[in-house]
Parts: sequence; structure tokens; C-alpha cells
Amino acid sequence: MDGLLEGNNDGKRKWIYPLIRKGTFYKWRSRISYVFLIFLFSGPFIRINGQPLLLLNFIDRQFVLFGQVFWPQDIFLFMLASLVFLVCIVLFTIAFGRIFCGWICPQTIFMEMVFRKIEEWIEGDAHKRKKLDAGPWTREKIIKKTIKTVVFLFISFLISNIFLAYIIGSDSLIKIITDPVSEHWLGLLLISGFAAAFYTVYSRIREQVCTLFCPYGRLQGVMTDQHTLVVAYNDVRGEPRGKIDKKAISQDDKGDCVDCSLCVEVCPTGIDIRQGTQLECTNCTACIDVCDEVMDKIHKPRRLIGFFSENMIHAREKPSFTGRMMAYSAVILLLTGVLGFFIFSRSDMDITVMRSPGLLYQKQAGGYISNIYNAEIINKTNKSCTIILRSDNPDVKVKYIQAPGPISVGGSVKTMFFLIMPASEIHKPDIDVHLQLIRDNKIIQSVTTSFVGPINN
Ligand code: SF4
Ligand code: SF4
Repeated sequence: MDGLLEGNNDGKRKWIYPLIRKGTFYKWRSRISYVFLIFLFSGPFIRINGQPLLLLNFIDRQFVLFGQVFWPQDIFLFMLASLVFLVCIVLFTIAFGRIFCGWICPQTIFMEMVFRKIEEWIEGDAHKRKKLDAGPWTREKIIKKTIKTVVFLFISFLISNIFLAYIIGSDSLIKIITDPVSEHWLGLLLISGFAAAFYTVYSRIREQVCTLFCPYGRLQGVMTDQHTLVVAYNDVRGEPRGKIDKKAISQDDKGDCVDCSLCVEVCPTGIDIRQGTQLECTNCTACIDVCDEVMDKIHKPRRLIGFFSENMIHAREKPSFTGRMMAYSAVILLLTGVLGFFIFSRSDMDITVMRSPGLLYQKQAGGYISNIYNAEIINKTNKSCTIILRSDNPDVKVKYIQAPGPISVGGSVKTMFFLIMPASEIHKPDIDVHLQLIRDNKIIQSVTTSFVGPINN
């Protein structure tokens, strides 16, 4: 093919110069990407109840989702939420193929909607870019390549800052940026490292992230079937393909594909969708837009390339909600219900109370019996606080050996105390005692522990 995708025959990488066509799908993708970019860049700075919208602090094992703080003790909730997300992606892939890649994936959004557009502004369209790369290092080429490198590096640096803000929080990021370099050399090193990685991805690796490295793309073949709606070429309608012969009396012996190759030239992964569904296809819909343009010009119906399942093209079936899709939907509903239950029943504080091992009970003066307990209290709120322990039974008193001090945000304290009860109240060897956690004069949680003593008949 003598087009923009012509490659070397020496085994070297085929550099892709996709044409940009602003069709209906492209416009929708642009709008979605702007919303995504606004959300992504403002996410670390938006506060809900004083907490960021999203924080994934793997270093301190603290996670925030929509202002809800999840501490290491809640890690199972985080894992459950990740599982729900994963099953949603699987269901979405079964129903719509790799559409996540072309429309939502940050890699595609940055590559196609940010870096590719900037590249086009600086170096011109695909034809000009190809010519520029193939040509000698003229003054114009040096200027354009320098501007592009500086702009790419700047945007990569911005992305790397935002990326770090999602890990360490926006306040810590601002400190790194505003404090003297010597105080945060590790943080600055990380930002520079991420920036270099992003620059390499968007200037050199590009579509290979999707076609070679992304495991999700590789799994697509397992998840999709003949019912999955994917970007596909309707070969029943398009074949036999062939250029329009203006001298011919009739074109009836030909399909609707005029073999213009535009669908290949717009493809950011460099494939020919007419060869069937391929792993490299990210469902970006660029080929649908351009083929629709062609069909308009030759006065044929649109969607020679469109969202079709194999059965829609070859068995003339309507899109269907299959049993497999129903099963995954049921799993999602179930998991979401379980997740919702755990999130809404999640307590602000966690307490573990254990009777001191090896000690049964102590006889105290005045006819009282005591037991010694160790407890650990965890503060899962976003405010530091002080907790008092009290029994709901007025006969049972708490006497601290080591009182719980203030508990910092996300922190924990250990405490040691006696529970003291009149011997006359002990009528069985093992009694349940309900301990209340009091914060700001309010009972916020109760925990049950056991009390042992000599039976008083
Ligand atoms: S853009 Fe449409 S008409 Fe042109 S080659 Fe591709 S499928 Fe055929
Ligand atoms: S084949 Fe079409 S939908 Fe798939 S990646 Fe290429 S242009 Fe995008």
C-alpha cells in the first residue's frame, strides 16, 4: 500500500502517521476526553468532607474514594471495590469489546486527544508529518521538533505532578513544589522520573502500549464472542471491494467498499479492519467516521464499518443480551450490594479487646472481682479524637492501668484496664460485658467481652 502506513521491510518498527478526521464519533470522543481531563486534573484538589475525591496512597496504605477514607483495616473493602470495577470491565468487554480502550483509557485519551492534536498543530497533518520525518534536518524541522519536544516534556511534567498528587495527596505535592529543592529531592526525583516515563510513552512507545504491552487487550479474545458488539467491517455489504469505475455502465458486481484505504490511514494502531476483528483494535471508531464520509460521497448508506456483532453481519441477528451478559450483570449486582452493605455498616472506630492471657481474675478489697484487659482502638475518621471506655452495666467499672490518649487521624492507641465487678453479681463463671466507646459524650460503638470470676451462689 502506498499510504501513510507504509513500513520498512527490515523488521524495524512501522511508524504510524494516522490521519485525523473529525466525524461524529471523534467529536463525541473529544467531548468525553475533555470531561475526563477536567476530572483527572482537578481530582486531587476537590475536597469532600476535607478529603480528596480520590487518593491512592499505597505508601501509607490510605485510600480515599469520593471523600470516604479507607484505612489498612478496610483493605478488603478496597479489594471488593476493585473486584466490582474489574467485573464491570469484563461485562462491558463481553457486550461492547474493547470500547473502554478507545474512549475512556487515559493512555488513549492522552495519546489521541492531547499529544496527537498538539503534534498536528505543530507539525501539520499526517502527510506533512511523514514528509517532515523523512526529510533532512532543515531549520524548519529543527524548530518544529524543538517546540514539540518542549511542549511534550511540559505536559508530561504536568501529568506526572497530577499522578503523584493521586498517590501522596495535593498538599504534599504543593509542599514538594514550593519548599526548597534540598528538602524534597526524593519527591522531585520521582516527579522527574514519571515525567520522563510519560514523555517516552507519548513520544516514542505510543500505540505499542495498547498493541503489545496492555494485558487487557490481550485478554479481549477470551472475553468476546459472536454476540459482542465491536467496531467491524460489514464484509457482506462491502465485498467484493473495488474502486469505482466511472466508465462502467453498472457497479452492481461490486460491494460498497471502494477500497480507498482511508479506514487504514486513520487507524492509530495501523490495522486494516476489513481483515476482521483484531486484538490491536481499540474500538476508537476513527474508521467508522472516515468510512461514513466516503459513503456520503458515493451516496451509499452509512455504517459500512460500524458497531456490529459477528452474528449481526453474518446471521442477520439483532443485538442481544446473552445469558453470559446476564450472569455477569447478576454478579455485579451481587458484589455491589455486598460492597454497599459493608461501606454503610462500616464503623468510624475499630476496637479489639482481649482479656490478659494467663490471668484469670483478681480479688479486690470490699468484695470486688477484677479482670485485666488489653485493647487497641483505631481511629478511621478524618479527625483526631479521644475515647473513653464505659460499661453499659452500672455495676461494672473501668479502671485504667494505661489510659487511651488522643488518637490521631488513621492512628491507633493501645490501652490496658481493669473491669471491676462486685463478687455478689457473679452468678456464672463467664459473663458477657458490653463496653461502650464514648467520644464527645456520645456512644459511638459497643463491643462485647467476657468477664470471669468465682461463682457466687
Ligand atoms: S473507508 Fe470504507 S470504503 Fe474506504 S476502504 Fe475502508 S471500508 Fe472501504
Ligand atoms: S480498526 Fe478502527 S476502531 Fe479499531 S483501532 Fe483502528 S481505527 Fe480504531
